[in-house]
Amino acid sequence: MPNKKRVALVTGAGRGIGLGIAQCLAAERCDIAVCDIHQDEIVKDALERLRKLGADVLYCRADVSDANARSEMLARIREHFGGLNVLVNNAGVAPKVRADILEATEESFERLMRINLQGPYFLTQAAANWMIDQRGQDDQFDGCIVNISSISATVASPSRGEYCISKAGVSMATQLWAARLGEFGIPVYEIRPGVIKTDMTRPVVEKYAKLIAEGLLVQPRWGFPQDIGRAGAMLVRGDCAYSTGQAIMVDGGLTLPRL
Ligand code: NAD
Repeated sequence: MPNKKRVALVTGAGRGIGLGIAQCLAAERCDIAVCDIHQDEIVKDALERLRKLGADVLYCRADVSDANARSEMLARIREHFGGLNVLVNNAGVAPKVRADILEATEESFERLMRINLQGPYFLTQAAANWMIDQRGQDDQFDGCIVNISSISATVASPSRGEYCISKAGVSMATQLWAARLGEFGIPVYEIRPGVIKTDMTRPVVEKYAKLIAEGLLVQPRWGFPQDIGRAGAMLVRGDCAYSTGQAIMVDGGLTLPRL
């Protein structure tokens, strides 16, 4: 990580994987803009934990699927920090109901596309334009974008098809933005988490615990937000500087083909 402090925006960092990533970036001398939809009171402890790691922390209550909220958030970051080096598109949701694709609704499909794909895609567009401007003014500018997709980008779960399609879209978005931003020296990466213990997996904790016990994973334990955070810190630090557009699997070997 360069000596100068950098500014990282992590969406959905009020808890779970996003908070794990924000903690690892704060430990690497990043100041952090936390984006989430929760009221201030709910994220108070999370922000405090980040401040204890030495980060200047700005909380932006914003819904990534709302275009106005996204531009207001970037304006606040500009006002507070003056710049932005890192965008981590982490905020995402599972379907409210896991429904067979023979029955699942268009409403749920649209909700997931807006939050998991369209929001991050256009947040990336705005952040990328800002990063290009910053680089135009300072050739030492150090920018980086990380998308949190999922093993569901390639593993088909017919009980949550809309989630899988949204994450496959994030995977293509990673490649598109990597291809477009290469000339500006801004790498774009993707992390594909496996089964991570967070509020998102709470409703299926017993199901996954049983699958893990039965051999689902090569490394037979739940993943934790820190597992994703450490991979994110590695990418932001520049340890994989010549690998733009790549997806890093953090899945305990779930997608390793085995016989
Ligand atoms: P989580 O539900 O614990 O945390 C997600 C955070 O994002 C929450 O704080 C939530 O309020 C916030 N958020 C939701 N919608 C938002 C919106 N519209 N705008 C801004 N913030 C919003 O979930 P998590 O497990 O930490 O998941 C984080 C990311 O990792 C998601 O994109 C998820 O799809 C992905 N992922 C999770 C797992 C897993 O097993 N938990 C596996 C693969 C991928």
